[in-house]
Amino acid sequence: MKLSLVVPCYNEEGNVKIFAETVKKTFKNNIEDYEIIFINDGSKDNTIGKLKELLEETDQNIKIINFSRNFGKEAGMYAGLKEAKGDYVTIIDADLQQRPDYVVKMVEILDENKEYDSVVAYQEQRKESKVLTFFKNKFYKIINEMSETEFVMGASDFRTFRRNMVDAILEMQEYYRFSKGIFSWVGFNNCYMTYDVQARNEGTSKWSFYKLFKYAIEGIVSFTTVPLRFATILGIIVSLLSLIYLVVVIVEKIFYGIDTEGYATIVTLILLLGGVQLLSIGIIGEYLARTYVETKDRPIYITREILTNEKEKNNDK
Ligand code: UDP
Ligand code: MG
Repeated sequence: MKLSLVVPCYNEEGNVKIFAETVKKTFKNNIEDYEIIFINDGSKDNTIGKLKELLEETDQNIKIINFSRNFGKEAGMYAGLKEAKGDYVTIIDADLQQRPDYVVKMVEILDENKEYDSVVAYQEQRKESKVLTFFKNKFYKIINEMSETEFVMGASDFRTFRRNMVDAILEMQEYYRFSKGIFSWVGFNNCYMTYDVQARNEGTSKWSFYKLFKYAIEGIVSFTTVPLRFATILGIIVSLLSLIYLVVVIVEKIFYGIDTEGYATIVTLILLLGGVQLLSIGIIGEYLARTYVETKDRPIYITREILTNEKEKNNDK
């Protein structure tokens, strides 16, 4: 099999059929030997019904991984990569924001340049609010400063991998999956390709500001332990300042006697130290919580069923 398309779907009933059709049209004269792996990530709408209809109707190789509930796009991508049989594997959204003709380009690049192991689509200009761009800029600055793994702003999950890289990604079996970091952590030679993001074909984006914020924290905690050191350094600084202040208080007491005032100082110090302590505990807690979940070693996703029309047509594969 030449190419596998991995398509995570959450509430995409209006898109999956059009997606498959568009792929068929686009690949017609370019890529013959491909499969589409749809992951139904616990959709609340009739995505699974539409996928089953598609399975009956089309002559394309289709595989449906039906999750037992919503596990998130990261889990969907992992499941798809695991099931993919292609020499190349592309991760692409179901909503047609990422046009399949870019996949043809990606495959061409990999065919022609043996030194590249993956092609990453990235957006130069983002069609989003200034505030969001500001926060994203800050996030990438902070995480790149802290982490040894490189994070490229604008790089999407829309990528095509060579088999060797897919196998490397599958070796990373952590429960908390921050895919952008994982793709970068495994290394290899990545080729960056600019692309235009289309408007969503149907439905709405699943990203809210809060979800993005959670995702950002996820990225930082998953790929750097610098915040822990930050807590230590903060502790050292506060301790040093306290020591200096202690000396000041003692000297004052010896030379000027006991001063009954100082209420404001005490309250300020208690609040400041309380804050510093809570912050440090919070940081430790973030890491500890993840350690706790990771040690449980739960599966990244659970499949309810896998459906395919592949066997009838490709017994040899
Ligand atoms: N998706 C998913 N599980 C989720 C959320 C999203 O599989 O819990 C899929 C979704 O169906 C789509 C892709 O991930 O194919 C990207 O989601 P979305 O379009 O909401 O994100 P955006 O394009 O706005 O970044
Ligand atoms: Mg989208």
